[in-house]
Amino acid sequence: MRVTGAAAQQAAKPVAGAVRIGANECWTGPFPVAAEAAYKLVNEGNRYEPDNEHQKLFDAVASVEGVPADRVLAWPGSSDPLSRVAVAYASPTRGIVTADPTYEAIWRTGDWLGAKVTKVPLTSDYRHDVKAMLAADPNAGVYYICSPNNPTGTVTPLADIQWLADNKPKDSILVVDEAYIHWYDGPNAAKLAGSRDDVLVLRTFSKLFGMAGMRLGLTLAGPTLMEKMMRYDGGQVTAMLPMTAVACGTTSLTQAALIKARRAEMVANREMAIAYLKKKGLKVVPGSHANMFMVDWGKPAKPMMEALLAQNVQIGRSWSIWPNVSRVSVGSAQEMDAFCKAVDKVLTA
Ligand code: PLP
Repeated sequence: MRVTGAAAQQAAKPVAGAVRIGANECWTGPFPVAAEAAYKLVNEGNRYEPDNEHQKLFDAVASVEGVPADRVLAWPGSSDPLSRVAVAYASPTRGIVTADPTYEAIWRTGDWLGAKVTKVPLTSDYRHDVKAMLAADPNAGVYYICSPNNPTGTVTPLADIQWLADNKPKDSILVVDEAYIHWYDGPNAAKLAGSRDDVLVLRTFSKLFGMAGMRLGLTLAGPTLMEKMMRYDGGQVTAMLPMTAVACGTTSLTQAALIKARRAEMVANREMAIAYLKKKGLKVVPGSHANMFMVDWGKPAKPMMEALLAQNVQIGRSWSIWPNVSRVSVGSAQEMDAFCKAVDKVLTA
C-alpha cells in the first residue's frame, strides 16, 4: 500500500543524486561503535529481546539525564508518542496550543481529532510566547513547546517552560519536544518530566545520532501519562522495538566525546553557510541551536526551493506564516559548499 497521508506528502521525498539538506537528517550515519552494537543484534534477531535491551537503554537514559529509569519509554521514533499524547489529552472540547512556525505534526492529529488547534506566533526573539499561548486557550488539553524549535532552531528558556507547566490547567499536559536538544548546552526539560506527572518530554535518535531510518525515540513521563499513551495497544509498540535500533541508541547515548565532535562539526558547517548567505545580503533567523536554520529570500520561498532543486540541492520547506523563508538543514562541509554555490547561481541567474 502506498502511504498517502499528509505527513508522508510533507516529508521531503529524496531526489536521486541531490544534496539532501531538507529533512533535518544527519549527513552521516550512527557512530561506528553504535552501528557495531546494532550489527551484533542482527545476528541475534531470532529473539524478540536477546537480553535486557530495553532496560539497558532506560538505564543509559537515566544516567545521562538524571531521571528515574522507570519514567523512560522507547518508541519507533518520537512521532508515534507525539500523536498518542494528543489523542489522550485533546478532543473536540479540549484544544491544542502550539507556536507558529513550529513542527506541525500535532496540528494534523488535532485536526483529525476535531480539536481546536491554536497557533501562537513566536516572540520577536523567536521564543515560544508562553503567556500568549496560555491566554489563547486557557482550557486546552495539550500545550506543545518545541525547543530548540523546528524550523527556527531557537530555544525557549527553561524558566518559560516551567512557567507554563505551573500555570496551565492541572489536568492538561505540557509536551516539550526536544528532538534537537543535543545541540544546546543550557538546561533542558528532562528533570521536569522526571518529577511531575503533567509534563512529557520527547527525544529522538533521528537527528544528531544519525538513526532516522532506524526509528528510535524516547518519552520521559509519569506513570499515568505512560499508561494513557499505551491504552489502545497495551504497550505493544513500546515493548516490541527492533533490537538493532535499541542497542544502537543505548551505545550512542554514552559517546560523550563523539557527540561533542559531531556537534562541533555541524555547528561549523552551519555557521559557514550562514556567514556566506549574510555576505550575499540575505537575512537569516538568528539564534539556531540545531542542525537547521531559516533563510529569508525576500521573495516567495517555494520558487527558490524549486530553483535550488534544479541545481541539485534539495532544501526544506517554508511555513505559511513566513512564506518568504525556507528551512535549510545542515549537511557536511561539502554539501553546505554545494548549497552556497547553488544559491549564488540562482541569485545571479
Ligand atoms: N519532533 C520534531 C521537532 C521533529 O523535527 C521531528 C522530525 O523531524 C520529529 C519530532 C519526529 O521525528 P522522529 O519520528 O523521526 O523521531
